Amino acid sequence: MTASGVRVRIAPSPTGEPHVGTAYIALFNYLFAKKHGGEFILRIEDTDATRSTPEFETKVLDALKWCGLEWSEGPDIGGPYGPYRQSDRKDMYQPYAQELLDKGHAFRCFCTPERLTEMREAQRASGKPPKYDGLCLKYSAEDVSAKMAAGEGSVIRMKIPTEGSCDFTDGVYGDVSIPWDSVDMQVLIKGDGMPTYHMANVIDDHLMKITHVARGEEWLASVPKHILLYRYFEWDQPVFMHLSLMRNADKSKLSKRKNPTSISYYSALGYIPEALMNFLGLFFVQIAEGEELLDIEELAGKFDPENLSKAGAIFDIQKLDWLNGRWIREKMSEEEFRGRVLTWAMENDRLMAGLALSQSRVSKLGELPDLMGFLLKSDLNLDPSAFAKIKSPPEEILEILNTVQPDLEKILEWNVESIEAELRAIGDRMGKKLKIIVAPLFVAVSGSSRSLPLFDSMAILGRSVVRQRLKLAAQAVAALVGPK
Ligand code: GLU
Repeated sequence: MTASGVRVRIAPSPTGEPHVGTAYIALFNYLFAKKHGGEFILRIEDTDATRSTPEFETKVLDALKWCGLEWSEGPDIGGPYGPYRQSDRKDMYQPYAQELLDKGHAFRCFCTPERLTEMREAQRASGKPPKYDGLCLKYSAEDVSAKMAAGEGSVIRMKIPTEGSCDFTDGVYGDVSIPWDSVDMQVLIKGDGMPTYHMANVIDDHLMKITHVARGEEWLASVPKHILLYRYFEWDQPVFMHLSLMRNADKSKLSKRKNPTSISYYSALGYIPEALMNFLGLFFVQIAEGEELLDIEELAGKFDPENLSKAGAIFDIQKLDWLNGRWIREKMSEEEFRGRVLTWAMENDRLMAGLALSQSRVSKLGELPDLMGFLLKSDLNLDPSAFAKIKSPPEEILEILNTVQPDLEKILEWNVESIEAELRAIGDRMGKKLKIIVAPLFVAVSGSSRSLPLFDSMAILGRSVVRQRLKLAAQAVAALVGPK
């Protein structure tokens, strides 16, 4: 335990490409720990077994390490309150659920999914927000035992007060009051025995002695459930701080549909981690104009969690580019710059794998930049005329690009085989030959129709860069198709 006793955590769910929003929250927690001489902990929240994958867990750890945000306890290094992966803790939650049942703070619910759907539809139809109606509260202990003995499936739900409101002070939002009436009887343990996020999160924060919970504002509405759990268990609750979400320039929530949101996209394009942290850290400090260029130590020194704005952090790419350029020009020696470039080119095996694919395709080494340059470029500057050589009409090309892009999101493990299998499946579904499908993808991904093998190139470029290139290609082709 550190002198201050401050313990904070980042608790990502490994369900997708690590998001810059995760780096933003992680940085806040990291700076908070640094400022207070506390500990910064990493916990993997993978209770959603259908969406969590080991690939994404590795990626989230790698991405946060790339950012330079080191944790002192986590699934990779252990620590005194481990394990730090919720799926490895799954047997720890059951006794706590039993305690809540025994104290009468929770109940077993036998409602079938069909009944719950019907109930919600009826509520919606009468203009009410969908919420569990408490049907199973009526069962006596004997009823419950009989149902369990008969093998009826059940979940465990928490009881919620019927009157009054949950009042608390959030470190960012100030005083908050949420009527209990609007809080759902949350499922705590699912039918398969796994805890839900809310249950595991509160128990783990308590067992890991977390003192401050700083996370995205999307969790603010969940605080009443969490506070109630702390009360039911008679535990001290942590201080809650809900940070405003990062937004696009148009104030909409930052999402990959508008802007690339994966950390891996920014690392692939050659953003410097210090510049990304500098950019994100500026949302947490008060500085005068001209003081923008700050490293993590300087950010920690100026870090001011009492003075955060609720306005939202605008993800202004131009500002990030400006800071990144300044880091490259002003903060690096020539030697350091060279080292960075080489490390970057080696990331994801881009350079080596690209050379391996190129060797059989060149007669002079000087052809390499044209042939494999697309693996390193931040922007292909794709011209719509690049698609002219493809036999398909622009309408068909657009249809292919727009189908492939969301479909590739479904791939769980991003590699040559899975990409090929998915593209073949798309071809079958669209009733088109693979040849027809891949022609526009070649151009979209590499900028040229004479290039390296497509599936390998896509694997090397990575999911987030491919996503962005397909999106930009679709925009270019849409200009050819013109308004309908
Ligand atoms: N697993 C949650 C997430 O990924 C953590 C939220 C929290 O910090 O409580 O957003």
